[in-house]
Amino acid sequence: MRINERVIQLNDRPTNANARYVLYWMQMYKRVDNNHALIFAIRKANELKLPLVVYEGLKYNYPWASDRLHTFILEGVEEKRVEFERLGIRYVFYLQQNADSPKRTVAALAKDAALIVTDDYPCFIIPEHNRRVAEKAEMPVFAVDSNGVIPMAKFDKEEYAAYTIRPKINKLLERYLKPLPFENVNVSGVGLDVDCPETIVTSATISELVAECDIDHAVKPSRHYRGGTTAGRDRLNKFVNEILPDYNTARSKPDRDGSSRLSSYLHFGFLSPIEVALAVRDSDAPQESKDAYLEELIVRRELSFNMTRFNPNYDSLDALPAWVHKTMREHADDERQFNYSLEQLEAGKTHDELWNAAQREMVVTGEMHNYVRMLWGKNVIAWSPSYEVAFATLVHLNNKYCLDGRDPNSYAGILWCFGKHDRPWMERPVFGTIRYMTSGSTGKKFDSKKYIAWTKSLV
Ligand SMILES: Cc1cc2nc3c(=O)[nH]c(=O)nc-3n(C[C@H](O)[C@H](O)[C@H](O)COP(=O)(O)OP(=O)(O)OC[C@H]3O[C@@H](n4cnc5c(N)ncnc54)[C@H](O)[C@@H]3O)c2cc1C
Repeated sequence: MRINERVIQLNDRPTNANARYVLYWMQMYKRVDNNHALIFAIRKANELKLPLVVYEGLKYNYPWASDRLHTFILEGVEEKRVEFERLGIRYVFYLQQNADSPKRTVAALAKDAALIVTDDYPCFIIPEHNRRVAEKAEMPVFAVDSNGVIPMAKFDKEEYAAYTIRPKINKLLERYLKPLPFENVNVSGVGLDVDCPETIVTSATISELVAECDIDHAVKPSRHYRGGTTAGRDRLNKFVNEILPDYNTARSKPDRDGSSRLSSYLHFGFLSPIEVALAVRDSDAPQESKDAYLEELIVRRELSFNMTRFNPNYDSLDALPAWVHKTMREHADDERQFNYSLEQLEAGKTHDELWNAAQREMVVTGEMHNYVRMLWGKNVIAWSPSYEVAFATLVHLNNKYCLDGRDPNSYAGILWCFGKHDRPWMERPVFGTIRYMTSGSTGKKFDSKKYIAWTKSLV
């Protein structure tokens, strides 16, 4: 049942009359500011004259769980504990390290909750989490959309491409691009006793905690990106003050630090896109750079969220339009000039130095520059035995190594390489009418030698 344009009630249960608190299960919007779900939970707690408990859990067994993803998430925990305590909100963080650790923590916390509020994130493991909690909980469960600047509910179907969603976003932007006023809780929950194990995380204990988890230890923490809202804001300030003025040209130069590099902070919700968009809009940078940035942050990003919200096939080639399926059928048997295994690609062992460099950047830093990311995806299509194998390889590598992976942008970005949100181009082998890119021509548009040398220096 829809409550308003940001909130859906996922089940039809009465409020728990014997409750001790309202529960906000924070899954994806790992922040205090500009968080519609947190504000909704605070309002509910105040209405019911109850304290608010914010619960954030980190499991060991979600797909691609690794030292890299765990460390980035844990780096944002301590600052939230301090901030929530200051606000009179009880914050509980629990790291479930292995199969023997206590489970069903949300269910245990729910027993004393009047109602549950959680994040309405449209992909990866979250929709299934929300379906299950709504089915099992004996109290109302509300899912709140704090993903983008514009509520996802403002669009009632899957948009075809950027050109169809852009005019709709532009019409709504003025109304939605505003900071969210914060509301305080009336009843403090600090020190509240809860039926849930708790993990106290400090920067000194993160590596030890991560080492004890039953996760992929081969994917090392990033030495380039530190998790948390404070680290995200530091990067946002640097971006707005030093990089944004030249963003319109520098963003296509992987050899320069010319883009925001904020996607991982946006993915984990450490930063709200509203905060980022306002900082850009209100800066003194040239209008063309601000417009170019807001096109990516709002139009492109929200197109991806729209796709995962409305297309149940977002993680397969079935999400592609009919013209792509037709051209793929016609070119499925075309001879591939190179055929690399997943192991060769993962190790960055191809004949193509620029592709290897992009792969290296991702494996070492946890991100890949936007410009080479397109080329990276296109070449995997050219070098795989089938389109299906190429798609599976791209999803796996992107989601395993990238801090910003497992995101609507991950699926939309990879599908874009196959023609999603694009149009037919000139026909050629293997790609058919899907847009084609080569390292030769792409590498001429920036100093590719410098970029390759930089990625080598990272190792
Ligand atoms: C094969 C492939 C895989 C991709 N995988 C991911 C992924 O896992 N996670 C991810 O966030 N993005 C992904 N993208 C989109 C894009 O490459 C990244 O968002 C961008 O590189 C992030 O760097 P930045 O923050 O410096 O971007 P900036 O240029 O500074 O852009 C600002 C913000 O706008 C958004 N944005 C930028 N480009 C796009 C785009 N093409 N589509 C949608 N939103 C965009 C991002 O949130 C980004 O942080 C992928 C693209 C491709 C082609």
